[in-house]
Amino acid sequence: MAKLKLAVYWGAACGGCDVSILDLHEKILKIGELADIVLWPLAADPKYSDIEAMEDKTIDLCLFNGAVRNSENLEIAELLRRKSKILVSLGSCACFGGIPGLGNLFNKKEIFNSVYLDREFNANEEQIVPKAKVTVPEGELTLPEFYNTVSSLEQVVDVDYFIPGCPPPPDLLWKAIEAIVSGNLPPKGSVIAGDKALCHECPRKREGRKVKEFKRLVDVILDEEICILEQGVVCNGPATRGGCGARCVRANIPCRGCFGPIEDALDQGTQLLSAIASTIDSDNPEEIKKITDQLADPAGTFYRFSLPVSMLKRRKEEGEE
Ligand code: SF4
Ligand code: SF4
Repeated sequence: MAKLKLAVYWGAACGGCDVSILDLHEKILKIGELADIVLWPLAADPKYSDIEAMEDKTIDLCLFNGAVRNSENLEIAELLRRKSKILVSLGSCACFGGIPGLGNLFNKKEIFNSVYLDREFNANEEQIVPKAKVTVPEGELTLPEFYNTVSSLEQVVDVDYFIPGCPPPPDLLWKAIEAIVSGNLPPKGSVIAGDKALCHECPRKREGRKVKEFKRLVDVILDEEICILEQGVVCNGPATRGGCGARCVRANIPCRGCFGPIEDALDQGTQLLSAIASTIDSDNPEEIKKITDQLADPAGTFYRFSLPVSMLKRRKEEGEE
């Protein structure tokens, strides 16, 4: 059997999705038997020009992880879409924008100010921020253009399959690779994960307890048997797609929501808000306000992984309709 051609790319990402490919352990050898790697910046050295020189649809499978934050991410997303038969959005950043997507709470200017200018210990006396083009005596230097808005992969190109997770569990990744290799493909657009909320696969007891206060994880010792949300610590399970095996809640850590919204849910954040509201033990507006004021970083909690694909998408700019 002819070997498949495999490409792996990272856009705006931390590298964890690449590590989850390495976490396939000895199955990596199997991948080596089945496929030739034509692009994988972490592990191999082919150049973009090698990909550009290929006929369209030559790559059998492309695993694209990371969000689209800059012009290089967009250019390579478009290139790999053209060259690939199957394009998989791998991990929460590619699927929903992920943690980099929280940058949509700010704009480019604010981010550059915070990173390069307004620092307590700032060696940047000339107040230089990255520019897409700079002319130096030797010629013109270029950098990718940093966009104002972070997008998911599907917001810029057509995607065939989605494997969520921060990082995606290796067993789901292997399931997808096996399906592709065997030609036993799920319908286009499938999310290789569960189709119900994480609470359905969580082993903890739910007793319908209501709460009078919300606490941070660092301030409590959680009972390992009882629903975390019912102990007054925010757990994103009710608004998050299952399929990970409830790996965080089994380790006594609340779900942070990395599998993204549940099938057909419009917005993970509002769904979580509704689940949390129904947990509060009060009808008194003033008391409810006091309780909800205890929720630290609401935007980062409700939309930690999914802001770019939410109904909000990004913070509105001044003067924007
Ligand atoms: S809210 Fe969290 S801890 Fe409670 S049942 Fe759902 S996933 Fe489990
Ligand atoms: S429990 Fe939640 S945060 Fe943890 S891996 Fe599963 S979906 Fe992601």
